[in-house]
Amino acid sequence: MLGIPRDLRRVYTDRDMYRVAKLLLLASAAMAQPSYDLLLKGGHVIDAKNRIDAVRDVAIAGGRIALVAEKIDPVQARKVVNVAGLYVTPGLVDIHVHLYHRTNPPPAATDESVNPDAFSFRSGVTTMVDAGSSGWKDLADFRDHTVKNARTRVLAFLNIVASGMHTGRENDPTEMDAENAARIAKENQDLIVGFKSAHYAGPGWAAIDGAVKAGNETGLPVMVDFGQITKERNIDTLLLDKLRPGDIYTHCFSGHREELLENGTLNPAMVEGRKRRIIFDIGFGQASFYWYVAIPAYQAGFHPDSISTDLHTNSMNGGMKNMNNVMSAVLALGSSLPDVIRMSTWAPAQEIKRPQLGNLDVGAEADIAILRLENGNFGMLDSAQARFGGTERIVTEMTLRRGAVAYDLNGLAAEDWRRFNYRKGPFFKK
Ligand SMILES: [Zn+2]
Repeated sequence: MLGIPRDLRRVYTDRDMYRVAKLLLLASAAMAQPSYDLLLKGGHVIDAKNRIDAVRDVAIAGGRIALVAEKIDPVQARKVVNVAGLYVTPGLVDIHVHLYHRTNPPPAATDESVNPDAFSFRSGVTTMVDAGSSGWKDLADFRDHTVKNARTRVLAFLNIVASGMHTGRENDPTEMDAENAARIAKENQDLIVGFKSAHYAGPGWAAIDGAVKAGNETGLPVMVDFGQITKERNIDTLLLDKLRPGDIYTHCFSGHREELLENGTLNPAMVEGRKRRIIFDIGFGQASFYWYVAIPAYQAGFHPDSISTDLHTNSMNGGMKNMNNVMSAVLALGSSLPDVIRMSTWAPAQEIKRPQLGNLDVGAEADIAILRLENGNFGMLDSAQARFGGTERIVTEMTLRRGAVAYDLNGLAAEDWRRFNYRKGPFFKK
């Protein structure tokens, strides 16, 4: 009866007091067992799908987003990471990369593929989509040797060329096997998000027609690297006749296929294509992004729908570098930060028909990028190594994959070494 005023003693019976004590015990037990594994505290959340562009706390439990709210009590979380001053976004989705080291036949000396985890997390990327490195004949090998071993979520556009990319068969119409491509895509729905046509130099439209046919049979989009154009195989016919709404034109600022007219203005076919809901994707790559194309496009109000790297060994140390650098380039062109984040998360997730990705829905896998926007004098290079001066740069501070820290540049989630228990080991968990 301690602490209860004398006049109230008459009101509460012993049985009431027992109930109160029981409730207090339950409440303290609940407090002793936090509901969340991790709380990201005080970051600026940009989540295009949920129309959030504000300071929010993000709680994670069981590898999934548990709550996004203005204030979440830190006592509810096992671990709290202060991310004030940083941007918290869905894990970035890069829909154009090359990841496949074919084993049969072994990779040629010209193989350009990279290891997914070596490039993804340090750039905030949690989903990579291989853009047609494998065809239907070698998809199983790609799955066994790349997809299964990666911690990064790896998806793929299946090359319409049965033998895949850089096998010397990319101009062979007998390789454009829509039936088998569609069949393999249906059998591998967890992996395949569409079909790719790339590097085609003729004859006719076999590669595009084959990819679209496979797309029609599966309800999946096609991504096109338009290869070499001719008078007959031109961008007008591609964008206004051949491709379907939702199909993706990658390398949109390459200038190699008359995206820009000879007088330096944007080809009206690009604008007309967009009206038909053709998607325009960056695909920076080794030779597919030039300021002299991108700037007139921006001056005409033509912005990309999605940002992708076309990561491979010949692009990674050139103007492209990584996803954050390509995002910074698009920021320098004049897109706002929320637009750049949308183009790198929710927009590509929708393009590949994976609406469970690229957002921070409660219940979604907790794939998260924590980004810093740096101010200063920066230079961004295009594929010709021409420089564009910018004042903002996006840098990845931390990346979470399924709620676990996959990359942590400054140890935001780490303990100070003086308090760290070195005996508990292992020191590094993959
Ligand atoms: Zn590519």
